Formats: sequence, structure tokens, C-alpha cells
Amino acid sequence: MSFDLSSRLAERRSAHLYRQRPLLASPQSVHAVVDGQSLLAFCSNDYLGLANHPQVAEAMIEGVRRWGTGGGASHLVVGHSGAHHQLEEALAEFTGRPRALLMSSGYMANMGAITALVGQGDTVLQDRLNHASLLDAGLLSGARFSRYLHNDAQSLQQRLGKASGNTLVVSDGVFSMDGDLAKLPEICATARHHDAWVMVDDAHGFGCLGATGAGIVEHYGLGLEDVPVLVGTLGKAFGTAGAFIAGSEELIETLIQFARPYIYTTSQPPAVAWATLKSLQLLRDESWRREHLARLIAQFRAGASALGLQLMDSPTPIQPLLIGDSQRALQLSAGLRQRGILITAIRPPTVPQGTARLRVTLSAEHSEDDIARLLEALQQTLASLPEMNT
Ligand SMILES: *Cc1c(COP(=O)(O)O)cnc(C)c1O
Repeated sequence: MSFDLSSRLAERRSAHLYRQRPLLASPQSVHAVVDGQSLLAFCSNDYLGLANHPQVAEAMIEGVRRWGTGGGASHLVVGHSGAHHQLEEALAEFTGRPRALLMSSGYMANMGAITALVGQGDTVLQDRLNHASLLDAGLLSGARFSRYLHNDAQSLQQRLGKASGNTLVVSDGVFSMDGDLAKLPEICATARHHDAWVMVDDAHGFGCLGATGAGIVEHYGLGLEDVPVLVGTLGKAFGTAGAFIAGSEELIETLIQFARPYIYTTSQPPAVAWATLKSLQLLRDESWRREHLARLIAQFRAGASALGLQLMDSPTPIQPLLIGDSQRALQLSAGLRQRGILITAIRPPTVPQGTARLRVTLSAEHSEDDIARLLEALQQTLASLPEMNT
């Protein structure tokens, strides 16, 4: 008998890797109602608290009135509305790039960019901790695909020495499960030395890093020559949905011609783009959100290290607590939940074997009291669990 799904599921369960979806009965917020319980949440990517911001919500409603509900067709047929176009122009200006292309999701942006830029006879080199969508795209592209050691320009250099054809170096900007920053100045210099292009997926940097929230390239002051392909997503700090690719005029035209996940899909609802114009404005102008986040990050890191917890090397709102064992990560998550705190355990294959963690994320919507509550709950939960002796 083929398709023995029940034993696959049972295996996953016994390895403590079974996933379940918390059912949210409220808007996305740090005060979430999940499975009927009111919880203080530390696990969304709504870093700036814009996913339920009244002005963004109002813009979405106005967008529906003005543009209707559906995209109706792909961009190349008749789905490219004025709302989409205006957002692309605003994103180009925001990123300081000649043009930007709006995509329906970050997964599709990465799939589209990589498969349009490299193919058979080319090379794609990726940080081994890159997001799944980048790794999947690398495999699908048909290019020679190799992963270099995490954030290691020397390991990249060795691989560049053996590369052939057009060579694309791809990295997360902020690593999504660890919160650390890609060492882009070194990576870009190394790539440039070998005439390779650099593509950065800054899903978690936009809104959080840089003086105006323009992400890791603003943080390091990197221009178009350093990072010719820049990807951002709109479902995280922007609080809406979709993604974009920013770069040269020629890059964007190439993607419009050749990026299949752009060509063969319906455009996102134009009202979403209309709302994103508003969230972009709030993200840029309200720098107090980034300043408040920085204070919360410092407070959390000081408190967690005082508790003896293992923090990662992260200056961002992603503050994972490394646990190691998947079962223990689940127990901690369950214990926190009993104390009114929601943090889902992140386990393999999302993270490497033996590195299960509680991926704590902070939001500008949190208060300093919320952080204090989290630290207290962590202390109590840890005290209630048996010591690990492995
Ligand atoms: C979330 C994420 C994506 C996917 O973006 P979606 O818009 O959610 O599809 C891509 N890359 C990274 C690094 C991400 O964290």
C-alpha cells in the first residue's frame, strides 16, 4: 500500500515535531485571543504593531471602496491597478532604487527572482541558514547550488572560486530564526571581487533597521552596486501582505518578462496595496516605534541573561531562546501558555537538528510591563520544569 500517511504522521508526533495551528479569534495583536484564551503574545512578525493599526485598516477599507476587492487578473493581463503602481513607485523611492516590483508574497518574490536570474550553467551560493523560500528557489533554478557556512565570507570565497556562469550570492538580511544580521559589507565585497551579484532578502530588517526603517542596506549604507537585488516582504513590519523586489530598471524589466511566479498569478487585492501605502508612511515617519523597540530589546536581553537563559547574538526584535531539545521547547511553551504567554516552539526542520528554540519576538506594541511579565513567566516556568541532564 502506498501513501501510508498515518505512519508518517505518527512518526512526526513521536519525534515531538508535530505542528498545530493556534486558532486566532482576534486581530493580530500582542493581546491575542487564541483557542478561546486571552494571551500576551511574543511570536508574531508584526514588529511595529501595524497589522491592526486603525489608519492602515481605514486605508484598506477606503481601498476596497475605490478599487474593489479582487485583483481580477495577473499584472500582465489587466490586474495591474493604479494602487499597485503607486506602491511600487513609493517602494522604489523608499529603498533608493530605480524601480520596485510588487509581488504577492515573499515566497513568490524569492522564487521569481532566483529562477529568473540563474539557470543551468550558472551558480547560486546561499548562506546555509537562509529562509526556506530562498533554498527552495535555488534548487528549482537548475543552477549549481551550494550553501556556504553561516555568515562566513571566507567559506563564500572558496565557493566563488569554483563558480561558473552567472553567479548569484543570496542571503537573508536579518536571519529569520536567529535574529542576527548578515555581514553584508564583507559578503558584498567578496562577491564583487568575483563579479557575482548579491541578492538580499530583508524580510525582517525593513521597518526595524536603519534610520528610516529602510532595513539592512540603510543600516550599512549599501547601494545598488553592492546589493543589486533587494527583497522585502510586506506581511511583517509593514503589517499588510505581499512583497517587493527593488533594483535597476533592467532588473525589474527582466523579472516582468521572465519571473514565472510574477507572471502566472493574480495580482494581490489592490486595497492591500492601498493600505500598504499608509503603513509605509507610518513605518518611515514614526521612528518612535523603532526607538521603543530598541529599549524593549535591551530590557529583554538584560533580564533574560540575568535568568541565565541562552540568548543569541541578535540586535533585532527576534530574540530566540535556544533550548536544543524539541520536547523541552514544547514543555516550556506549554508552561508559558498556562501563565498567559504565547510563544510557539520552533523545531526542526525549520531550524537545524538539536536547536529547537522559543523564538521570542518583540513588537513596538509591547510595553515595558509586558516584557517584565514575560521575564517573570519564564523564570516561573523554568523553575517548574525538571533540569535537563543530557
Ligand atoms: C517570511 C519570510 C519570507 C516569506 O514571505 P511571505 O510574504 O510570508 O511569503 C521570505 N523570506 C524571509 C526571510 C521570511 O522571513
